[in-house]
Amino acid sequence: MRRLAPYQSGLWLAEYGDVRCQLCRIYRSTPQSRLPQNHSSASPPNDHSFFTKLRQRFDDRFHSGLLCIRCHHSIAWLPKSFDVDIAVGKTLSIQAATYYDYPIRQAIRAFKHHEDMTKLPLLLHVLRQLPRPHGCHYDNSVIVEMPTTEQRLVKRGFDPVSILAAQLSKHWHIPLWHGVERIDNTVSQQGLTRAERLGNLDNAFALIETPPVKRLLLFDDVATTGASLQALGRTLYDQSSSLAGVNSQNSNPYQLSAYALAHGSEL
Ligand SMILES: [Zn+2]
Repeated sequence: MRRLAPYQSGLWLAEYGDVRCQLCRIYRSTPQSRLPQNHSSASPPNDHSFFTKLRQRFDDRFHSGLLCIRCHHSIAWLPKSFDVDIAVGKTLSIQAATYYDYPIRQAIRAFKHHEDMTKLPLLLHVLRQLPRPHGCHYDNSVIVEMPTTEQRLVKRGFDPVSILAAQLSKHWHIPLWHGVERIDNTVSQQGLTRAERLGNLDNAFALIETPPVKRLLLFDDVATTGASLQALGRTLYDQSSSLAGVNSQNSNPYQLSAYALAHGSEL
């Protein structure tokens, strides 16, 4: 039997047993006409054409999972992706599912720092806004979550990134791969400048096995400057090619891209 992702039964309960929106707690089946006027849907109320109804039904089905349509539209803003350098002439693009702003920021903090699992359904809804990378599937890609150290795990008691990564793996149908180890015991990245963050992350990761596929999808919970994903990307790019016996950067066969739940400042 396949192992369930962490907290999976609680998430199923939230999705199928709870009919209220995970954000506003209003019944998520609230008809559009009963939503506050300034938040009514884009289609005019008198438009009863076949296609409008069909679209509405599709929207309702698609977004009926965990949030009401009104809340869904208030958070579903896919930020523009941004690039960081990982080698000479090689960049890593980072795509987040939403911005690190209210109410997601509060939910992430409660989840990460206070182990508040009631926020997980909301975060899962946000995570599902990440489109599966083009051309990536079960056989040609793996998700590489931002690794943590045992020391951090013991201190925190749980690993929030791995819980989210397991859900992303389910959503994309792409397996997780745990071939990178975090070897640093450095201080938290929070509150550091970009240069300090990068210095702090030098030699923070090590590859413990050759990646099984060529497409590596890196994942972290929050990307601020992207420094952690950049450091992880550099390590993967450099060390995977040496492990695979590729000695020229030009013939490096690995394709890396990075994803995060939220993008923004941690201040
Ligand atoms: Zn709502």
